[in-house]
Amino acid sequence: MRIGALEAGGTKMVCAIGNENGEIVKREVFPTTTPEETMPKMIAFFKDEEIEALGIGCFGPISPARDSADYGYITSTPKLAWQNYNIVGEFEKALQCPVGFDTDVNAAALGEATYGITKGLKNSIYITIGTGIGVGVLAEGKLLHGMMHPEAGHILLHRHPADTYEGWCPFHKDCLEGLAAGPALEKRWGAKGDTLTDRAEVWEMESYYIAQACVNYCMILSPERIVLGGGVMKQQALLPLVREKFTELLAGYIRTKEVTDVENYIVGASLNDNQGVMGCIGLALQAMRENG
Ligand code: ADP
Ligand code: ZN
Repeated sequence: MRIGALEAGGTKMVCAIGNENGEIVKREVFPTTTPEETMPKMIAFFKDEEIEALGIGCFGPISPARDSADYGYITSTPKLAWQNYNIVGEFEKALQCPVGFDTDVNAAALGEATYGITKGLKNSIYITIGTGIGVGVLAEGKLLHGMMHPEAGHILLHRHPADTYEGWCPFHKDCLEGLAAGPALEKRWGAKGDTLTDRAEVWEMESYYIAQACVNYCMILSPERIVLGGGVMKQQALLPLVREKFTELLAGYIRTKEVTDVENYIVGASLNDNQGVMGCIGLALQAMRENG
């Protein structure tokens, strides 16, 4: 089976062809400029491949619920050219095949749950800590949308006592994303994250924020496993520190076999940075099932 996957990001569009086993056979990347410029390139890529379905994991906010009036649209994104753009409708018209659609992070959560480290679990989350922070949620076997979709990168937390940086989120200043995404590291410490490896205080503070977020998600969503991905998590020291602080902050309140085994509870992404694209294949397969 030939399946199309589109990981739609604010800077680049990763287009790929794969099969139902999550194997990627072809990939091409286009810069995200305007729909007028970028859409025809992507449509041409997929049209040549005679795909049976397409899955899109998209930057947002988006409208992913099939029964909502603006289903398939990118909605209030700060990327103005894509605001209120019916990306699903345009691909359906051009390719005449089922199209699955969800957030980029829900796609990554589905990728890990279908082909990766959360396979077999009905409840898991995928947190990306990169240029922004986002969380994809699989709850009772389904990707969680709720009213729209979770925006769990923008939760509010306790500030680290030694942190004087105001935060960079244009909406909330010191939400999780404003304090702990890659740009926050760079602005607080005056250097890019990948050059700060030897600064213990950087990862002490960073892990405090990520661990708080993990505690909050654990309490609210009760996931069976938490996956941490994104560029900042490439920092080797971070994952063990997050686990340690998570256990400390949980303070023995939850004692399931999952959280007690913290090394298997909070884990790194497992699919070599392909979790997003592979999740898009999962979204395409879902769309095929829904279309009968
Ligand atoms: P995006 O979120 O744009 O899809 P990434 O997940 O790759 O992209 O995240 C990019 C961010 O991660 C940048 O802010 C970058 O500085 C940061 N980053 C990349 N590698 C590292 C590293 N080894 N340590 C800390 N931060 C890193
Ligand atoms: Zn925010």
